[in-house]
Amino acid sequence: MTVVISPTLRRLVVRQAGHRCEYCLLPEAVALHRHEPDHIIPVQHGGVTDPTNLALACLRCNRYKGPNVGSFDPLTNQLVPLYHPRLQVWDQHFRLVGAEIMPLTPEGRVTVRLLRLNDPDRLAERQRLIEARLL
Ligand SMILES: [Zn+2]
Repeated sequence: MTVVISPTLRRLVVRQAGHRCEYCLLPEAVALHRHEPDHIIPVQHGGVTDPTNLALACLRCNRYKGPNVGSFDPLTNQLVPLYHPRLQVWDQHFRLVGAEIMPLTPEGRVTVRLLRLNDPDRLAERQRLIEARLL
Protein backbone atom coordinates (compact mmCIF):
# COMPACT_ATOMS: atom_id res chain seq x y z
CA MET A 1 0.00 0.00 0.00
CA THR A 2 1.48 3.32 -1.06
CA VAL A 3 1.10 6.18 1.38
CA VAL A 4 2.42 9.63 0.58
CA ILE A 5 4.54 11.12 3.34
CA SER A 6 5.11 14.85 3.04
CA PRO A 7 8.67 16.24 3.09
CA THR A 8 7.84 18.00 6.36
CA LEU A 9 6.69 14.76 8.02
CA ARG A 10 9.71 12.89 6.65
CA ARG A 11 12.06 15.51 8.12
CA LEU A 12 10.33 15.13 11.49
CA VAL A 13 10.71 11.31 11.35
CA VAL A 14 14.38 11.61 10.41
CA ARG A 15 15.02 14.08 13.21
CA GLN A 16 13.24 12.05 15.89
CA ALA A 17 15.27 9.00 14.78
CA GLY A 18 18.57 10.82 15.09
CA HIS A 19 19.24 10.25 11.35
CA ARG A 20 19.69 6.49 11.75
CA CYS A 21 17.65 3.33 11.30
CA GLU A 22 15.67 2.82 14.46
CA TYR A 23 16.01 -0.96 14.22
CA CYS A 24 19.62 -1.66 13.15
CA LEU A 25 21.14 1.78 13.93
CA LEU A 26 22.59 2.23 10.41
CA PRO A 27 23.25 5.96 9.95
CA GLU A 28 21.38 7.35 6.95
CA ALA A 29 24.48 9.28 5.89
CA VAL A 30 26.38 6.06 5.06
CA ALA A 31 23.52 4.09 3.50
CA LEU A 32 23.43 3.45 -0.24
CA HIS A 33 19.68 4.09 -0.28
CA ARG A 34 17.77 6.73 1.58
CA HIS A 35 16.13 5.47 4.76
CA GLU A 36 12.35 5.25 4.70
CA PRO A 37 9.60 6.20 7.13
CA ASP A 38 8.23 2.84 8.32
CA HIS A 39 4.67 2.46 9.52
CA ILE A 40 5.34 0.64 12.80
CA ILE A 41 1.75 -0.58 12.69
CA PRO A 42 1.16 -0.94 8.94
CA VAL A 43 -1.72 0.89 7.30
CA GLN A 44 -3.42 -2.41 6.45
CA HIS A 45 -3.51 -3.15 10.19
CA GLY A 46 -5.06 0.24 10.97
CA GLY A 47 -1.82 2.14 11.52
CA VAL A 48 -1.95 5.88 11.01
CA THR A 49 0.45 8.11 9.10
CA ASP A 50 1.66 10.37 11.88
CA PRO A 51 4.80 10.70 14.00
CA THR A 52 3.47 8.35 16.70
CA ASN A 53 3.40 5.47 14.21
CA LEU A 54 6.40 6.25 12.02
CA ALA A 55 9.97 5.14 12.52
CA LEU A 56 12.98 5.68 10.31
CA ALA A 57 14.11 2.38 8.79
CA CYS A 58 16.89 1.46 6.41
CA LEU A 59 15.87 -0.23 3.19
CA ARG A 60 16.71 -3.74 4.45
CA CYS A 61 14.95 -3.38 7.79
CA ASN A 62 11.88 -1.96 6.11
CA ARG A 63 11.78 -4.73 3.47
CA TYR A 64 12.22 -7.53 6.00
CA LYS A 65 9.66 -6.00 8.36
CA GLY A 66 7.10 -5.59 5.60
CA PRO A 67 3.52 -5.68 6.94
CA ASN A 68 4.50 -7.69 10.04
CA VAL A 69 3.57 -6.56 13.54
CA GLY A 70 4.88 -9.57 15.44
CA SER A 71 6.38 -13.03 15.20
CA PHE A 72 6.95 -16.15 17.23
CA ASP A 73 9.62 -15.94 19.90
CA PRO A 74 12.27 -18.54 19.04
CA LEU A 75 12.71 -19.35 22.75
CA THR A 76 9.09 -19.70 23.86
CA ASN A 77 7.21 -20.05 20.57
CA GLN A 78 4.80 -17.39 21.88
CA LEU A 79 3.43 -14.74 19.53
CA VAL A 80 5.21 -11.51 20.44
CA PRO A 81 4.90 -8.00 18.99
CA LEU A 82 7.89 -6.51 17.23
CA TYR A 83 9.96 -3.82 18.93
CA HIS A 84 8.05 -0.52 18.76
CA PRO A 85 10.44 2.42 18.37
CA ARG A 86 7.91 5.03 19.52
CA LEU A 87 6.77 3.19 22.65
CA GLN A 88 9.94 1.33 23.62
CA VAL A 89 13.61 2.20 24.14
CA TRP A 90 16.21 0.46 21.95
CA ASP A 91 18.71 -0.04 24.81
CA GLN A 92 16.11 -1.89 26.85
CA HIS A 93 15.51 -4.45 24.09
CA PHE A 94 18.90 -4.75 22.39
CA ARG A 95 22.57 -4.45 23.16
CA LEU A 96 25.36 -3.95 20.64
CA VAL A 97 28.06 -6.55 21.40
CA GLY A 98 30.84 -5.95 18.94
CA ALA A 99 28.96 -5.73 15.66
CA GLU A 100 26.17 -8.04 16.77
CA ILE A 101 22.78 -6.79 17.94
CA MET A 102 21.96 -9.02 20.92
CA PRO A 103 18.27 -9.19 21.86
CA LEU A 104 17.46 -8.71 25.55
CA THR A 105 13.70 -9.33 25.48
CA PRO A 106 11.11 -11.36 23.57
CA GLU A 107 10.37 -8.26 21.45
CA GLY A 108 14.09 -7.97 20.77
CA ARG A 109 14.38 -11.64 19.78
CA VAL A 110 11.53 -11.56 17.27
CA THR A 111 12.76 -8.27 15.82
CA VAL A 112 16.37 -9.46 15.42
CA ARG A 113 15.17 -12.62 13.70
CA LEU A 114 12.45 -11.16 11.46
CA LEU A 115 14.49 -8.15 10.35
CA ARG A 116 17.60 -10.33 10.00
CA LEU A 117 19.63 -7.77 11.92
CA ASN A 118 22.62 -10.10 12.26
CA ASP A 119 22.87 -11.54 8.76
CA PRO A 120 26.56 -11.95 7.84
CA ASP A 121 26.58 -9.05 5.38
CA ARG A 122 24.95 -6.77 7.93
CA LEU A 123 27.47 -7.82 10.61
CA ALA A 124 30.34 -7.10 8.23
CA GLU A 125 28.90 -3.71 7.35
CA ARG A 126 28.33 -2.85 11.02
CA GLN A 127 31.90 -3.94 11.87
CA ARG A 128 33.31 -1.62 9.18
CA LEU A 129 31.20 1.26 10.53
CA ILE A 130 32.40 0.61 14.08
CA GLU A 131 36.03 0.56 12.91
CA ALA A 132 35.45 3.82 11.03
CA ARG A 133 33.81 5.25 14.19
CA LEU A 134 30.60 5.88 12.27
CA LEU A 135 28.46 3.75 14.58
ZN1 LIG B 1 17.99 -0.94 9.59
